[in-house]
Amino acid sequence: MRDVAKVVVKNTNRSFDIEYSYIIPDEFIDKLQIGMRVYVPFGRASKKKEALVVKIVKQDIESLKEECRANTIKNIVELIDDVPIIDEDMLDIMFTMKRDYICTYYEAFMQMVPSFEKARGRLVKLAYLKMDRQEVLDKLDGNFIRNIWQVKILRYLLEHETIEVNDVVRFIGGGKYSINTLFKKGFIGYKEKSVIRDPYVNKCIQRDKAKIPTSSQAVVLEKIKNILYKEKYDEVLIHGVTGSGKTEVYMQLVEYCINKGKNAIVLVPEIALTPQIVDRFRARFGENIAVMHSRLSKGERRDQWYLIKEDKIKVVVGVRSAIFAPIKNIGVIIIDEEHETSYKSEVTPKYNAKDIARLRCKKSNAVLIYGSATPSVETYYKAMTNEIHLCNMESRTSSNNLPQVDLVDLRQELDSGNRSIFSYKLKDEIQKNIQNGEQTMLFLNRRGHSAFLLCRECGFVAKCVNCNVTMTYHKTYERLVCHYCGYTIKNFKECPKCKSKYIKSFGLGTEKLEEEVKKEFPEASVIRMDLDTTSYKNAHEEILSKFKYENINVLIGTQMIAKGHDFPNVTLVGVIAADAMLNVNDFRSEERTFELITQVAGRAGRGEKKGRVIVQTYNIDAYSIQTALMQDYQKFFDKEIELRRILNYPPFSDLGVATFIGANDKETFVCADSARKYIIKLNAKYNLGLDVLGVNRTPISKIKNNYRWRIIIKCSNRGIIIRTLTRVTDKFLKSKISGVNLSVDINPIRI
Ligand code: ADP
Ligand code: ZN
Ligand code: ZN
Repeated sequence: MRDVAKVVVKNTNRSFDIEYSYIIPDEFIDKLQIGMRVYVPFGRASKKKEALVVKIVKQDIESLKEECRANTIKNIVELIDDVPIIDEDMLDIMFTMKRDYICTYYEAFMQMVPSFEKARGRLVKLAYLKMDRQEVLDKLDGNFIRNIWQVKILRYLLEHETIEVNDVVRFIGGGKYSINTLFKKGFIGYKEKSVIRDPYVNKCIQRDKAKIPTSSQAVVLEKIKNILYKEKYDEVLIHGVTGSGKTEVYMQLVEYCINKGKNAIVLVPEIALTPQIVDRFRARFGENIAVMHSRLSKGERRDQWYLIKEDKIKVVVGVRSAIFAPIKNIGVIIIDEEHETSYKSEVTPKYNAKDIARLRCKKSNAVLIYGSATPSVETYYKAMTNEIHLCNMESRTSSNNLPQVDLVDLRQELDSGNRSIFSYKLKDEIQKNIQNGEQTMLFLNRRGHSAFLLCRECGFVAKCVNCNVTMTYHKTYERLVCHYCGYTIKNFKECPKCKSKYIKSFGLGTEKLEEEVKKEFPEASVIRMDLDTTSYKNAHEEILSKFKYENINVLIGTQMIAKGHDFPNVTLVGVIAADAMLNVNDFRSEERTFELITQVAGRAGRGEKKGRVIVQTYNIDAYSIQTALMQDYQKFFDKEIELRRILNYPPFSDLGVATFIGANDKETFVCADSARKYIIKLNAKYNLGLDVLGVNRTPISKIKNNYRWRIIIKCSNRGIIIRTLTRVTDKFLKSKISGVNLSVDINPIRI
């Protein structure tokens, strides 16, 4: 009998992603534990590969050889870790993730640990402009550069001396690829600078103490503390209007757990958009908290990770990935704004942080708490059917009531001769606000200047060469941009097809809205917040604090401005076109519309003065808009749940999507079609009860020169969906069709 380790190896594809056996040499026997990383000789060439130890057993070598159908069983050659890098609970979750998200062991494992890439000491890599300024300007002016991220980097460097390479990836987008291309083309050079690592961004925060709960907070606190007291797995939804004091409740619950000697994880949707919540937790819990989010550098993230692992902190506040924090002894996990789509990963492994939270709570006998003013239909349905507890918080903490919401019918405005993008009413109210020195937020869910340009002579519309979408006009750059792949060309003044000058722009974007506000209210100060104005470090914070402290009249923005912010002087919120989301072909479009209007409306009247909200729309009859107008979540839910029931959508079914992606349209379709036939066969043979929808193009049928065909399956049993898609994936892998890729998603957040 020998000591044998079962390991899973790094960088394998799915077909080889199984447990492998290696002998533990005597020298490692006392040291090696489950959850440590090691090096093993792998494959016929015995290449040295990293692997993770998942089991340690005593086994008879001869029988093991037989079992593995191998002549020899190789030895582990080297240990990477001195102590386990993940514990057995997380290993278990890794196994579940491989099964449920149809990914590899290591894809799941990599979510749980920080990047171990060699730290670059304290040096950061900077990019600077190497080419002559005028030359850069000329190249930008011509059609020499056809990638919007490269354009943005160059424009940034024309105004600033340097930019951190990591920041490009994080704030401008396009990845390392675009900046490297600029390097190769000789536009920029690299240099290094040493820096001091400081995750707390030298912010000094005043400590505070728990507030005396309001009566509705007290009721909720009492109820949930009773649940926490039992130290048994359970789930609670806190449904509380914006400003009802949910965050205060979270903090007191976390405090309660800490006093019982337990730890907590608090998930928030997106740190840049909700910096306040982190500050509030830090003020309350000081050194006891760790923060995990994408704005930390790799080194900072690793530091935070080890702080947590070494048991030096009690609370983790972070985004989706923080659900994997190596914290032990969890008493409570809180998911704030639980309706947010950012809790679902859209890259492999396509996990949902809620599923992981549930697994972790079950393992630790902890309580999972969801909070939202507009809960997802799925979660609220669980509360309505008593699967989870429900706590309501119906009024705001300040004496202030919820704002007054008014609807404007844009068709009627047109009929009465108003062609402006502002209804008479909204225009009036903005004017009033400017006069009174109160602030206004205008919300529009599309960036850029206009959605597309159309030649009125011949009907030509500019489309991306790589994707099947129209290009958005961006006035700031005088360019047309594809929002899917970043392809860009200079704006044209005459039609490239018929040379006509009758080019007109259609579809309103935030840039144009800004222009219109300035035109209509020349005396007003205006600031805009969208992906284009926030593509550098601290841009969000700068825009928001400028808006707040310089009392700017009007803030224009995309959904970035819809969430969480607390501006006491904002008394008017205008939703320029509430229809944008409604016209999206997704079964959640009414839900998103309701949610967005309610969240945006929640920004108004958070101070002493009463808030007003004006919603402009062409669809005044849509129930999501009508119920949002009344701020009646229950009414919205009752209608929505009936439709979901009739159409058999979640929560009444689970969905699985298999998307085939390839450069050859026909081949890609053929793959999808044969997969569909296979699913139909399985369905009939095993009586799976699957509802298999046809092979369809995705809403955007081509992205980056790759065509996309997909199959959607529905079933009331999630396990059946997972098993079916697993079989489809494995069959597809075996058939080895080159040039076509398959991506599967269980319960996608949008379809
Ligand atoms: P939500 O998270 O539900 O939007 P918040 O927790 O942000 O609500 O509360 C809104 C405001 O009310 C915040 O400024 C907060 O400091 C304040 N607040 C919350 N609870 C109390 C309380 N018990 N006493 C006094 N002020 C409170
Ligand atoms: Zn034309
Ligand atoms: Zn494109």
